Amino acid sequence: MTYQRIFDHRSLLVLLSLLLTAGFLATSMFGYQVSKHAIRDTIIGQDLPLTSSNIYSGIQKDLIRPVLVSSTMANDTFLRDWVVKGEGKGERQGKDNIGDISRYLNEVKERYGAFSSFFVSEKTSIYYTGAGIFKRVSPTEPRDAWYYRVRDMKTDYEINVDYDLANADALTIFINYRVYDFAGNYIGATGIGLTVNAVRQLITEYQQRYQRTIYFVDGQGKIVVIGSRIDLDTNLRAAEGVGVLVDRILKEKSGYYQFKAKGDNHILHVNYLPELKWYLFVEQNEETALAGIRQTLYANLAISLAVTLIVVFLAHLVVSRYQSRIEEMASTDKLTGLLNRHAFTILIDKLLAAYRRDPKPITVLLADVDHFKSINDLHGHRLGDEVLAGIARLLTITLRSSDIAVRWGGEEFLVVLQNCDLDEASRVAENLRKAVFQARFGEPGVDVTISIGVAKYVGVETPEQTVSRADGALYQAKNGGRNRVCVATTSTAD
Ligand code: GH3
Ligand code: MG
Ligand code: MG
Repeated sequence: MTYQRIFDHRSLLVLLSLLLTAGFLATSMFGYQVSKHAIRDTIIGQDLPLTSSNIYSGIQKDLIRPVLVSSTMANDTFLRDWVVKGEGKGERQGKDNIGDISRYLNEVKERYGAFSSFFVSEKTSIYYTGAGIFKRVSPTEPRDAWYYRVRDMKTDYEINVDYDLANADALTIFINYRVYDFAGNYIGATGIGLTVNAVRQLITEYQQRYQRTIYFVDGQGKIVVIGSRIDLDTNLRAAEGVGVLVDRILKEKSGYYQFKAKGDNHILHVNYLPELKWYLFVEQNEETALAGIRQTLYANLAISLAVTLIVVFLAHLVVSRYQSRIEEMASTDKLTGLLNRHAFTILIDKLLAAYRRDPKPITVLLADVDHFKSINDLHGHRLGDEVLAGIARLLTITLRSSDIAVRWGGEEFLVVLQNCDLDEASRVAENLRKAVFQARFGEPGVDVTISIGVAKYVGVETPEQTVSRADGALYQAKNGGRNRVCVATTSTAD
């Protein structure tokens, strides 16, 4: 019975912790998933497009002013005059005579903070910079191809991204502007080159602040410019994850993509920049973006675990306290092995229920040891205990199996006799009294007597009332000199 209880107790706690754990896990994970989706939506719907358009407008700011500067150069009277008048009267005049144009180009470069400034003459093929004559362009030199393209171009200018030969091959955005003489004939190309510093700064900032990777890709799928982390000129097709998407991206020109790299999920936003014929790639590592809510998830789980432990612990306390009370109520008396008073209250209810179905007479005996206090005082408490245990043994020997013996109090015993009327009960009581009287208890052996009160249960009263009447009879027995049996009479008794 006890094992069964303990098992029930344990399985209750296990069930409770399972339920709580499952509940907390479910709500935590659900919350995490909701936040995760919200974050992904924000990345796709806001963060990446905003970054992309900020960088785009940064680039435009970087480019629009240079276009204006180049346009001013192309329309500059001095420049056109100088060319028309024979470019410092030709090379025959010596180096000094090109001083004017170099000074002019240098001034433009300085004033507008350009990286380089140039003029290429159609007539002489000379490439002038702020430093003087740089070289002659040639239709057979691949790196001069840009000039011949500009020469045949229908529009006034182009924006070209190239390595600047004149400046240690730095990657430069050139504005190439067509120049006409006063009669409207094409006489060369001018403009400035600029590095992409402002854009670069913007990109670096975004990369650092939001852990986003930002780079540009040309029409061939090569990485051009800019973020400090990415190598120039590498083919993106070789990259992990995003590589296989390149052809699709170049075809679609802009959109969202997802790929896995190094085990992390990446969200990619691509935007095509027609002015540069470049694709702007903005990448967000989703795991990095989720770090915050993951932290929250762990905190939630920790709190849930703590709450579960506390609840289970409290439940354990309550249940075991309740359980031990039940066990105490159900258990028998340790000293005598008889039922205790708590057990009796449970039993008597069952007895009375049976009585109501089939009213067979029930009688109670209340026995009390005579002068027990002096036995204790004379022979010690230990012997007193032996006396009580001995009387209990006599009770069990004398009674039938259907009778119930209870240790009622310290040295009081209650006996319930089933299917037994008052006469029979008096006889049983008398036998008990005699048995105790004749017996000797403990070592070295003491004589003990008991007094007994007898009462019959009457259907209209409570068991307490019956016991109380038995107690009254016991009181009479004590008063009458002890070591005797007295029967309680009732008005309704037979
Ligand atoms: P009376 O004849 O009037 O019943 O006298 P009494 O001395 O038996 O009555 P009283 O109720 O004054 O004394 C009962 C004594 O029983 C007091 C108490 O110390 C003792 N007692 C109660 N329970 C135990 C027990 O479990 N073991 C022992 N050794 N003594 C107990
Ligand atoms: Mg007593
Ligand atoms: Mg007594």
